[in-house]
Amino acid sequence: MKFIELPAQRITWPSRCCRCGKADHAWRTHTENVVAWTALAVTRYRRISLPIPVCGDCARKRMFWFAAAALFFGIPLLLHPLGVDLEKVPTALILASAVAAIVCALVGQRSMPINILRFDPDRKRVRLRIHHDDVARALLANPDSEEVEHRHVRRGLLIAGGATLAIAGIAAIASLLSH
Ligand SMILES: [Zn+2]
Repeated sequence: MKFIELPAQRITWPSRCCRCGKADHAWRTHTENVVAWTALAVTRYRRISLPIPVCGDCARKRMFWFAAAALFFGIPLLLHPLGVDLEKVPTALILASAVAAIVCALVGQRSMPINILRFDPDRKRVRLRIHHDDVARALLANPDSEEVEHRHVRRGLLIAGGATLAIAGIAAIASLLSH
């Protein structure tokens, strides 16, 4: 896995799946909400779309994890119509399903063919997470591309914030349903 910065409008992809390196691929539009990061400050999120070469399996993989996340998140909602008294469901089980939902969502995020980690609006450059080393090498052959270090501090904060929100949400749903 490599982190690469390069001009958003001039990316020359190798003709293979950008995630697994398989020759069989199709062009698909990859869209993410990306932090716009200028020389001065983090400004805001911006929706960035890039055409990427990706195989069918890699394009679909994240859907499995996001569906699993939704399922775990919905467990308390599913139990109620089934006649289960939520007050009798151990809190640990509800918390465990919340944690499982977060883990699945994070794995889903990591299962995306690429991740667009930053966008520099001044220089119109994107920072990409590229999982496949051969694809990364091919991208680094682009003029103006460079390999960079990527710090995960903000990601850690996001995970902690997301976990807190999810657990609070589950607790709120559980308390609503139990009345
Ligand atoms: Zn693939």
